[in-house]
Amino acid sequence: MEEKKGKILVDSVMIAPNPFYVVREALSRKVGFLKFLRRRNDSLNELDSSFWKEGMYDGIELNYPGIGFFDEKWNIKEKKLLEYKNSNYPFYTFHGCFGSLPKRYHGLYFNLASSDKYVKKALQSQIDVASILKKDDKTILVLHPGTAENGNREEALNNIVCNLEFCLDYAKQKGVIITLENVNWDLDKNVLGCYVDDFVYIFNKIQHECLKICFDVGHLNTLVFDKSFRNKRNIEEMEHFKEFIETLADNVAHFHLHYNSCHLNFGKDIQAWKKKFFKWVCESENCNYLDEHMPLNKADESVLQMIKILINKSQVKNYGYMTCEFIPERVFKLIKVHKGASVVDHKESLELIRKMI
Ligand SMILES: [Zn+2]
Repeated sequence: MEEKKGKILVDSVMIAPNPFYVVREALSRKVGFLKFLRRRNDSLNELDSSFWKEGMYDGIELNYPGIGFFDEKWNIKEKKLLEYKNSNYPFYTFHGCFGSLPKRYHGLYFNLASSDKYVKKALQSQIDVASILKKDDKTILVLHPGTAENGNREEALNNIVCNLEFCLDYAKQKGVIITLENVNWDLDKNVLGCYVDDFVYIFNKIQHECLKICFDVGHLNTLVFDKSFRNKRNIEEMEHFKEFIETLADNVAHFHLHYNSCHLNFGKDIQAWKKKFFKWVCESENCNYLDEHMPLNKADESVLQMIKILINKSQVKNYGYMTCEFIPERVFKLIKVHKGASVVDHKESLELIRKMI
């Protein structure tokens, strides 16, 4: 590969000792007297630089929800942006806000599939941050397709098309390629982007040089155990990977790499208190507790095979980046996280990936 191509990045949330800006923000908005938590200015100073030294990662995918770049009206917090701009941190790609929190968390909750007018402003602001902080002439902004808020999937998909049509020329001007990410299987059937069909629908309606797909290997990995999904299509576990690759590989410009083992032990090892906690914070029955984000040295051989095929068949080599999204081993450098990745896990996963490219 040429110098610029094939950079392996790490998600900024995953290397911050406190990856839970979002949780802190949610708690402080939910419980009045915890408001003081919001004044804490962290993230940048605390990113662990040992992760992008020699032999480790080539740079960082900056995760907006983990930073809090936007105020409640989706204006960019200029001071924060400047702090990031003046740092010499290697931010190559960007991860947009998404919708795991309730809708009232303005400036954090973002649903590309909504017809609400904040979406267009939010898109512009998110493109602007990527354009200002990017290290190369072109960058990638990853967005989740979102949720059908009123349960009408087709209407929601049309909203995605409309919102993207609004911003793609702007993104092009700013050197930003928008990639839609496939998301993990969810009990909530209104979540878009689990299935190949959603992407086919969108790409049939829009073809634009700045609209591509971010293929999240670990997310697709959660879908393989959805029996109703498999039965509907009459396919075996790993066939969905193949379906995805065969249908969409030409549009895949970016990867998120991690592994989920939930298809092996669905429902068995999720502690009740965790479920309750997430339910309380997210106010949803359908929390993403299945999305484990484990390192690749813990992955099945079949998953590694898929990554290899993807590297060869997709457009990733032309765009140049893939990002590891592994949950950190400890939060606040103290509390051990179930299935979190140690530095050794990161190193071993990197060795596996570098062998493939
Ligand atoms: Zn991802």
